[in-house]
Amino acid sequence: ADLPDPDVVAAWPVDVLPPEPGPESDKYRRGVVGILAGSDEFTGAAVLSTGGAVHGGAGMVRFASVPHPVELVRHRWPEAVTTVIEPGPKALEKVGRVQAWVVGPGLGTGPEAEGLLTAALGTDLPVLVDADGLTVLARRRDLLRREAPTVLTPHAGELARLLGADRADIEARRLEHVRRAAAELGATVLLKGSTTLVAELDRPVRVNPTGTPRLATAGTGDVLSGLIGALLANGMAALDAAAAGAYLHGLAARLAAGGKEEGEWRGEAPISAADVITALPD
Ligand code: AMP
Ligand code: MG
Repeated sequence: ADLPDPDVVAAWPVDVLPPEPGPESDKYRRGVVGILAGSDEFTGAAVLSTGGAVHGGAGMVRFASVPHPVELVRHRWPEAVTTVIEPGPKALEKVGRVQAWVVGPGLGTGPEAEGLLTAALGTDLPVLVDADGLTVLARRRDLLRREAPTVLTPHAGELARLLGADRADIEARRLEHVRRAAAELGATVLLKGSTTLVAELDRPVRVNPTGTPRLATAGTGDVLSGLIGALLANGMAALDAAAAGAYLHGLAARLAAGGKEEGEWRGEAPISAADVITALPD
């Protein structure tokens, strides 16, 4: 009950909101996001990340992976344009043009995942790396030497792996570690947890005011990756996209969980990651 009222949270001053489409808009100009996610073993993360992007305001979502996740994404999100790719140096050529990449949810951590991550980070486009992509990045930090914006979205365990630090130490000093991570990795770093922090070199750290512990359930992080990918494709700067994404994700979760009935607090209901996707347009 001591959580902020969703109505109050909705009125919270956000300094940057996603661009709104106008008469001159078309799907390409609104932003095409490319998602490289899923594997034969893990398919759910791919479906959820794609959902975050589809409901997150992208003009178009392109999804590319091995056949099994492609089949499921195609079934669940007919809005997405899907491509079966064979991992290799030319994997991205078949996918078509995008304005931003999301790499990692359910991708696996083997050589094929590493190949896709290398290809995406080798482009001059904004790239968001999450989940398995972060595990690969922990052994290939050299891939972060690039000019275009990179957004990393670790939870404390993933950040510990990336920095070679102790997880408990990250948890104890989150603000300090997220700042250090942004400086050391040369990326925009969004540290997930009960309070999400977003850091970029020489900029004040953003502290997300929305969210609910009901978000602590499998798959919600995957939704966030697709949502922020859509905002990057919309043309938002990396820090703004990450902060606005965390804000909207947390607010959608609050809306999905309910909380009030006729103005009275009645506690929140359990939510799933799919509920967060459904609530995003609201
Ligand atoms: P992941 O760790 O990738 O599964 O993502 C989990 C999502 O849930 C992130 O957006 C976290 O910020 C959020 N989350 C996890 N635990 C909590 C919590 N105790 N309170 C609020 N949000 C949380
Ligand atoms: Mg995750």
